[in-house]
Amino acid sequence: MKKGTKLYSILKLKCPHCQIGNLFSNPGLFVIKGILKMPENCDHCKQSFKLEPGFYTAALWISYPIELIIFIPVFLLGLSLDSLNGFFKYMYPLIILFAFMIQVPTMRIARAILLNMSIDHNTK
Ligand SMILES: [Zn+2]
Repeated sequence: MKKGTKLYSILKLKCPHCQIGNLFSNPGLFVIKGILKMPENCDHCKQSFKLEPGFYTAALWISYPIELIIFIPVFLLGLSLDSLNGFFKYMYPLIILFAFMIQVPTMRIARAILLNMSIDHNTK
């Protein structure tokens, strides 16, 4: 993945300004502790991550469509395969488990997308 692009910053969860500092105190997509804990500023370039009070509430409006994009096809596929001996009935617990597994990465990526919409990469 090419450094300097917004996609790099979003998927690697890096500071949108310098793309070196981590967005989250506990880096990585799949974490258990400190899921949404972010430092006040980037530890490399000191870019503020707390742009205004309630800023990350808007991230809900980013994570919601991501979940819909993933689960509407899964749901429709499940319904279409339901005629095969109730296939969907057996897949249902796995889909619920999958939904829980992608919750943390989706919330983190939604925050990264929101910050990248507000802050541009410093090309200098
Ligand atoms: Zn930075």
